[in-house]
Amino acid sequence: MTDWAELERQYLMYKVSRPQPVMVRGEGPWLWDGEDRRYLDFVGGWAVNLLGHSPRPVVDALCRQAAQLMHTSNQFYTIPQILLAQRLVSLTCFQKAFFVNSGAEANEAAVKLARKYGKVRLDGAYEVITALKSFHGRTLAMVAATGKPKYQEPYRPLPEGFVNVEFNNIEAIRKATKGQTCAVMLELVQGEGGVNVADLGYIRQVRQWCDERGLLFIVDEIQTGMGRTGTLFAYQQYGIEPDVMTLAKGLGAGFPIGALLAKDHADVWEPGDHGTTFGGNPLACSVALAVLDEVERLNLPERARATGEYLRQRLMELQARWPVIAEVRGLGLLLAVQFKEPVARKVVQNALEEGLLVNAVTDETVRLMPPLIVEREHVDQAVQVLDSVLRRLTA
Ligand code: PLP
Repeated sequence: MTDWAELERQYLMYKVSRPQPVMVRGEGPWLWDGEDRRYLDFVGGWAVNLLGHSPRPVVDALCRQAAQLMHTSNQFYTIPQILLAQRLVSLTCFQKAFFVNSGAEANEAAVKLARKYGKVRLDGAYEVITALKSFHGRTLAMVAATGKPKYQEPYRPLPEGFVNVEFNNIEAIRKATKGQTCAVMLELVQGEGGVNVADLGYIRQVRQWCDERGLLFIVDEIQTGMGRTGTLFAYQQYGIEPDVMTLAKGLGAGFPIGALLAKDHADVWEPGDHGTTFGGNPLACSVALAVLDEVERLNLPERARATGEYLRQRLMELQARWPVIAEVRGLGLLLAVQFKEPVARKVVQNALEEGLLVNAVTDETVRLMPPLIVEREHVDQAVQVLDSVLRRLTA
């Protein structure tokens, strides 16, 4: 039998930290490994697989478009890209879209847009304020934007023009705002940072501060967008409108695509200011259109709200039973169990052995972000595994 782990060690630069199953097949919320073991997937490919694995309508759209036109240069109009822009505009407070291939690229584009905005509207201002414990991607500039020293240390000197300040603290943003500031960029729920939910008052104050100072408010909805938090986009729960929003992950639900959405007043780009070879290709845009059809047909934001509420209740029952759990937090189907001790990695490993995939986002925090199509029975199965894992760990 092929030793895939050994071949990976030999040929890939990316290393998994401990032996992992080789996943070969997926359907709905389930994954199967090469030995035909089944796993309930509450990681969802890092909050990507909104519709579960290989959803039929998306596979059909992908195959149809692949047979018709996969890619052409962006000097020509292509229809899926225009339709996707129109659709996203109709669903949001934005008027313009730009498509890329990943989350980091969407945020890079947002920062480039903000810098151009600073250049033409704010006397050359260029600095973007971001939050500590944020996560905006792995390109060099996004490592500088990401407020996590661990990701920054190996790459210093980092690109200039970012300040990382405390999250949920408006004073920190006010203090960091200088003449050179052009934008504030935030997640509404910090996913990688441990599922930290932004306070309503904080986000409203940030909006007000940006209005007073003429700054762009960029919201990174790469993890929270497309229904995960219980509304199509999380900003819709905060009663504010950002100037710019970035999307990726769930937009393609398994096919790579990212997007930048902007209000008219923030669209300061002229031809040639930014570009991409693959961004907005017909294949990715057809998939995203099919994903949006499914999100609407299945009413997934509402399902994420209701199933998320059920999952939260069931996790709080676990909290009542296991004192090692300090807190359950999150929005919709982006939830975290906070432990009082650094047991998260053990919980993840033990859950994997019992057929449940969850993620240790810190040593003390387990994150759950299942496909939005999960039913109560899947939630019950996941909670049962976690209960059994905690019984074993605390025995
Ligand atoms: N922004 C947020 C909020 C994310 O959660 C992520 C990925 O986890 C990114 C940006 C980066 O996206 P990508 O990995 O597609 O570059």
